[in-house]
Amino acid sequence: MTRQADMFINGQSAAPSSGEYLDSENPADGSIVAKVARGTQQDVDKAARAAQAASEVWADISPFERGKLMEKLAVAIEQNLEPLAQLDSREMGNPIGLARLAIQGSADYFHYYGGLATSVLGDTIPITSDKLVYNRYEPYGVVGVITPWNGPLNQACRSCAPALAVGNSVVLKPSEYTSLSSLELAKLATEVGFPDGVFNVVTGLGNEVGAPLVEHPLVEKVAFTGSVATGQAIAEIAAKKVMPVTLELGGKSPNIVFEDANLEAAAPMVLFGFVANTGQICTSGTRVLVQRSIFDQFSAMIAEAANHFPIGLDKEFPTLGPMANRMQFEKVLGFFESAKQQGATCLAGGEQATGPGLDQGLYIKPTIYTDVTPDMRVVREEIFGPVGVLIPFDTEEEAIQIANDTEYGLSSGVWTQNASRAHRVAAKIKAGTVYINTYHDFSIEAPMGGYKKSGLGREKGVAALHDYLQLKNVTMQLI
Ligand code: NAD
Repeated sequence: MTRQADMFINGQSAAPSSGEYLDSENPADGSIVAKVARGTQQDVDKAARAAQAASEVWADISPFERGKLMEKLAVAIEQNLEPLAQLDSREMGNPIGLARLAIQGSADYFHYYGGLATSVLGDTIPITSDKLVYNRYEPYGVVGVITPWNGPLNQACRSCAPALAVGNSVVLKPSEYTSLSSLELAKLATEVGFPDGVFNVVTGLGNEVGAPLVEHPLVEKVAFTGSVATGQAIAEIAAKKVMPVTLELGGKSPNIVFEDANLEAAAPMVLFGFVANTGQICTSGTRVLVQRSIFDQFSAMIAEAANHFPIGLDKEFPTLGPMANRMQFEKVLGFFESAKQQGATCLAGGEQATGPGLDQGLYIKPTIYTDVTPDMRVVREEIFGPVGVLIPFDTEEEAIQIANDTEYGLSSGVWTQNASRAHRVAAKIKAGTVYINTYHDFSIEAPMGGYKKSGLGREKGVAALHDYLQLKNVTMQLI
């Protein structure tokens, strides 16, 4: 029988007021994984009220005790690592090896921010001896968190852990494609002792749950991860409410390979930079800039690696899973069509992957285009599939100019053995992250976020804590 998943509000499961459920489909074989509650504005209201009622209690628990609860939740996630990884893998189609890593990362967010809960101090500001002036850093109250489908539990924890650590309560709205692990997280939080209402999950569609969550008067801050278009819609509502938002949006990140790079090390990692998670990573290094003197050699190396990259969930990780949903699959095929029409040369892939074990799924071959021009859609737009373009350049200045010729600014890479050049280029690239001689080298301690249209604010690291706090100044005249 198909599993039916209800929402989680105020410490307990809650059926949707609509009485309706949405199908969650496994992209590897088209089977229905679960029927997921189709939440409504009414459900959002219930969750926001519960969160608001809980927020003062939660903010009043000492940071040390909050940190201990966060740590307990981290351990509970680890104890449930396998079932949580299975849920994410079945709903979004990522290889189980990758899903396990992502769930460990989810637990790590709670370890890390639990440990940092006591690190939020105040400041005293010396003015004159007859005044006491100090700053307090206070939680907002209710934080709305909205996540996409390409790293389900991991992205939820990336925003929820820092928000909770500093004393906010949370209403989480996961992607309608991948809700199950977030619902399990809410149950685990209650089991380990989080007070009812501190962590709530309302599932459903963007316009039926996401927008009402952003609009809700009790929600005082929103952390959103997803597309630019949705981020802009959220920012418009936030502007009317005068509410802060963290926006983690899309990218079209450059990965620059200089002629003095270690090409043997670079080729597989540059490929990994745009095929990892089937290219469904916001930080994917999809524009590969290669110095002209090594262009042919490097193109041949990376095309060879792409043509031999394993595809299918029956292979050992690292392997390529299917696209996470049909909409995304069709979108990538549309980009292949436009590349053909606009005259790009396909060096590898450029089509659906078929064959034993693949025919029922939404599989795409690792794809590389060359002979591209700056106006082509495959060069300018975020594809969110395993697709990279190779662009030649002659000088360091030209590489920087091409790298920055985008409306995005999320991530980037530089491959060179010249340390001065590496740091010179790192300083000139307009992006929130620069990797040197590595890529997708994620760590919780390193903050991430966007320049330009890639976003606002930062997630991860100590920096993120301050995006979930507001500052109050207190001035007292000593009389
Ligand atoms: P999306 O914007 O379509 O949806 C993201 C979430 O927003 C979903 O939960 C969706 O239901 C909800 N939503 C949709 N319309 C809404 C509305 N009007 N109001 C409020 N919520 C609404 O994005 P997606 O297709 O799920 O994810 C892919 C995008 O996410 C890509 O552009 C990718 O680059 C980006 N992304 C960014 C990061 C990052 O950290 N910067 C990480 C992962 C994904």
